Amino acid sequence: MADYQARRSGPGTRTLRVNPIACTGHGVCAELLPELIATDEWGYPIIDPRPVPYALEPEARRAVAACPALALRLVRE
Ligand code: SF4
Repeated sequence: MADYQARRSGPGTRTLRVNPIACTGHGVCAELLPELIATDEWGYPIIDPRPVPYALEPEARRAVAACPALALRLVRE
């Protein structure tokens, strides 16, 4: 149980990945998840390569769902 709780409160095991070919630089993802996604000077995302903290997974899923180009994914490491 303690291990389960530690995993829930610690870093997650999923990371965000962007398909640079599909991404059109809308920047919606960065607006929804500024904790993990910044944008470059052209509006393309700069993704934090570290695992998504468990507490931010709902926001990460929202950002993935909101991407109009289907270019953002949440992948299990
Ligand atoms: S929302 Fe999608 S298309 Fe827009 S910048 Fe983010 S990954 Fe790219």
